[in-house]
Amino acid sequence: MQTKIPEQIINTPQGKKADEILRSCVHCGFCSATCPTYQISGNELDSPRGRIYLIKSVLEKNQVSKDTVQYLDQCLTCRACETTCPSGVEYSQLIDIGRELAEPKRAWWQKLYRAGVRQLLTTPVLFNSVALFVQHSSINTPAITPSAVTARVLLLTGCVQPALAPNINHTTKNVLATLGVEVVETTQTQCCGALEHHLSAQEKALQQIKSNIDAWSELINSGIEAIISTASGCGVMVKDYKTLFEKNDPYYQKALLVSEKTQDIAEYLLGKDLSVLRVKANNISYHAPCTLQHGQKLPGIVEKVLAKVDIQISPITDSHLCCGSAGSYSIFQPTISKQLRKNKLQHLSASNPDIIVTANIGCLMHLSSGTDIPVKHWIELLDISENA
Ligand code: SF4
Ligand code: SF4
Repeated sequence: MQTKIPEQIINTPQGKKADEILRSCVHCGFCSATCPTYQISGNELDSPRGRIYLIKSVLEKNQVSKDTVQYLDQCLTCRACETTCPSGVEYSQLIDIGRELAEPKRAWWQKLYRAGVRQLLTTPVLFNSVALFVQHSSINTPAITPSAVTARVLLLTGCVQPALAPNINHTTKNVLATLGVEVVETTQTQCCGALEHHLSAQEKALQQIKSNIDAWSELINSGIEAIISTASGCGVMVKDYKTLFEKNDPYYQKALLVSEKTQDIAEYLLGKDLSVLRVKANNISYHAPCTLQHGQKLPGIVEKVLAKVDIQISPITDSHLCCGSAGSYSIFQPTISKQLRKNKLQHLSASNPDIIVTANIGCLMHLSSGTDIPVKHWIELLDISENA
């Protein structure tokens, strides 16, 4: 794609990156076939290619209308288009740039509403009070300590997960302890930056990200083997830290190290001997979060780990499509979000499962609010309480 971005923009790191990404798109439109919003509306402007053209207009002509903001907002940042694109277009980086440039044109009341939601979700004292009323799971098994330590890892506890579903981190720690892995927990008092970053609050996001990088780098230097994430939405953000700094930025090397050390819990367990772990359930349906399959480029990884403990997952229709959760998307775009959840639950329920599992707290909460079938994190299937 040819571009004519004005010099004052192209000479900025953001403008340069956007120009590179735009030029890599050959406007073939293959990506539209797997775009959830295009599938619902059939509108080209709700497709990846349509949004790429909108962002091109923002960059070249500073052309931002109310509709531009709306179509950019309606993108789930699910990155299914990146998986499909034959040219390797880094769409998610482009949409972040486009959204940031379009942000000043957003209506004042939208800015206020979004700032309020951001504040609520990223302020532990506020969020924890609300979470008391919507808590999803509690801890019912004893904590295990490793008998012989073979490795140490840092567990990213997440900002909303401990309040909403504390059993996820608890089970993860027990699974790791059973395998002889000692867990160092972050005293994570703030978000990984994903919420602020995807809601165009870049300055705040960078503050949080730099503070996390500083804290986690110290732990890496103390000899931890990996940084483990149990929420794929947080994991993909931390893995992307390295893309947020220019190579000459003092934070680049540290960000690169943090990103490279970060693994989803499924990625970490895949190479381990899991024969000591017990299987808790069968007849399971699995929803692969977009942040795991498209964002972290790990399609099929949870299925592989579960197969190692003899849990077979039946394939579901349209497993590549988003469930509509997408971070704060379900709050700001409830109509599309509910339609996608309805479609996803229909496919997940087709085999009459006893339980639905997933790998991200956002998907878990969103799906469970639309069905009577219990929804859990897949790690919770690995019952090790009787080994305690
Ligand atoms: S993003 Fe990729 S798939 Fe979509 S139009 Fe551009 S080159 Fe084609
Ligand atoms: S990120 Fe998802 S919703 Fe957005 S354009 Fe790509 S496929 Fe469509």
